[in-house]
Amino acid sequence: MNEKMNALLQKVYELHDLEKAAGVLGWDKQVNMPKKGNLARTQQMSTLGRIRHTMFTSDEMSELIAAAAEEQAEAPYDSFEASLLRVLQYDYDQARKFPTEFVVQMTMVGGQANAAWEEARANSDFAHFLPHLEKVLELTKQRAEYLGYENEPYDALLNQFERGMETAVVRQIFQEAKEALVPLREAIDERLTAVDDSLVHQPFDVAKQQEFARYIAAAIGYDFSRGHLGTAPHPFASSFSRDDARITSRWYPDFLNPSLFGVLHESGHAMYEQGTHPDFARTPLARGASLGFHESQSRMMENVVGRSRSFWQRHFPKLQETFPDALGGATADEFYRAINKVQPSFIRVEADEVNYNLHIILRFELEQAMLTGDLAAADVPAAWNDKMQELLGIVPPNDSEGCLQDIHWSWTGVGYFPTYALGNFYAAQLYEAAQAQNPQIGADMAQGDPASLVAWMGENVHQHGRKYTPDELIHRASGQPLSHAPFIRYINEKFSEIYGL
Ligand code: ZN
Repeated sequence: MNEKMNALLQKVYELHDLEKAAGVLGWDKQVNMPKKGNLARTQQMSTLGRIRHTMFTSDEMSELIAAAAEEQAEAPYDSFEASLLRVLQYDYDQARKFPTEFVVQMTMVGGQANAAWEEARANSDFAHFLPHLEKVLELTKQRAEYLGYENEPYDALLNQFERGMETAVVRQIFQEAKEALVPLREAIDERLTAVDDSLVHQPFDVAKQQEFARYIAAAIGYDFSRGHLGTAPHPFASSFSRDDARITSRWYPDFLNPSLFGVLHESGHAMYEQGTHPDFARTPLARGASLGFHESQSRMMENVVGRSRSFWQRHFPKLQETFPDALGGATADEFYRAINKVQPSFIRVEADEVNYNLHIILRFELEQAMLTGDLAAADVPAAWNDKMQELLGIVPPNDSEGCLQDIHWSWTGVGYFPTYALGNFYAAQLYEAAQAQNPQIGADMAQGDPASLVAWMGENVHQHGRKYTPDELIHRASGQPLSHAPFIRYINEKFSEIYGL
C-alpha cells in the first residue's frame, strides 16, 4: 500500500526538477553566459526559485508528507521511504521558519552587500563594506532567532550547513587542532627553504593541462560518460542527476597546481553525486550528507590521494610526457615535494594542507565574536590581522588580502566556513577507517591506485546520499564521532617526513 507515498513522490519529483533546472541555468551562467545576460538570467532563476519555494512550503505539501508518514509508519529507519520522509519533514520545517518578508529582506541585503563587497575588495576599502557588514550581522542574528537553537545562536547558523553539529563541539575540536597545527607550522617555518616548488611555476600549455586534467580525473574514478569538464573563473562542481555531475576548472599558463588539484578536488565532489543510490533519483536524498561530508570527498581526492607520493610515482611519467620541457629533467619525488610546499599565505584558497585549517579557525573565531557582540564590525580588520599573526605568523599588507578576501559574509553565509575544516577532519577519519577495515586499500594506495578506497567510499558514504545526518554517517562509517585526531596524525606524519622534522 503506497498510494500516499506515490502521491507525495510525484510532487517531490516536480520540486526536484525545478531545482535542477535552475541549477542548469546557474551552471550556464558561470560557464557560458555573456555578462550582459545577467539580468535576464537572474530573473529566470528567481522565477524558478519562487515557484519551487511556494510549492514546497504550501499547506498541501505538509498534508502530503503527513499522509505518507502515517501510511509508512512501519517502514524501517533505513528504508528509502522513512529516510525520505525524515529529510522532507526537516527541510519543510526549516523552510517554514522564515516569514516571507524576512526572506525578501535577506535577499535584498545580501545582493547589495555582495556588490559593495566586490568593489570594496577591488579597492581594499573596508569602510565601503562596513555598513553592509553591519546589516548582514543584524539580519544574521535575526536569522538565528527564527531558526531556533538550544545553546547558542551560532548553533542555528552552523546547522544550516552541517545538520546537528554543535558549536561547542566544533570549538573544542578547533582548539585542539590549533594547538597541534601552530607548532607544526612554526617548525616548518624554520625550514621553509627545504622545499623548492619552482618546478610547478613554469610555462604549461593550457590545452595540454586540460588534456592531462581529463586523464587524472578519470584515473581517480570520475566517470566522464556521466560527467563534463568546463572552464569557470571560480571552479565548482554541479550535478543535475547522478548521470550528469559536472566539474569546472581554471587554467594558468605558468602555474600547474590550480588546474591539477582543482580538478581532483571538484572530481571528488562530483564522484560523491555520481555514487548516490539510483533509487534516490529526483529526490532530496540524491546529494551529499552535508557540506562537510561533501568537502571530505573533494579533499580526500585532492590531498590524501592527489598529493601523495605513491600517486605521483604512478602518474608522473605521464605528466612528464605531457610537459617534457618543464618536467623532463625532474623526478617524481621532486615533484611530490614541490606540490606539498608549505608556505604561510594570506589567501585561504591558496593555502597548503598545514595552514588551510588555521585560515578556517580564524574565521570561525571572528564570526563567533561578531555574533556575541564582543567584536564590532568596524574592528574586524584589526582583529583579522591580529589573528593572522597569532595563527599563521604573517600580517596581510591590506584588507583585500585580509578580511575582504572571501565572498561568504557578503551573501550572509555566516556559519559556512567551519564546514571546510570539518571536511578535512572527516576525510582523514574516513581514510583511517577504510584502511583499518580493508587492508587491501593501504596496499593499493601504496601503488598509487585509489580504486579500492573509492569503492569503500562508494559503499560507506556515497550511496547513502543524504539518508543519514553527518553524525550518523561518520559513526556508521568509522564507529566513532567526528575527531580531529586522525587529521593531526596524517599531517604530522606526512610533513615531518617532507621537512625532516
Ligand atoms: Zn569543495
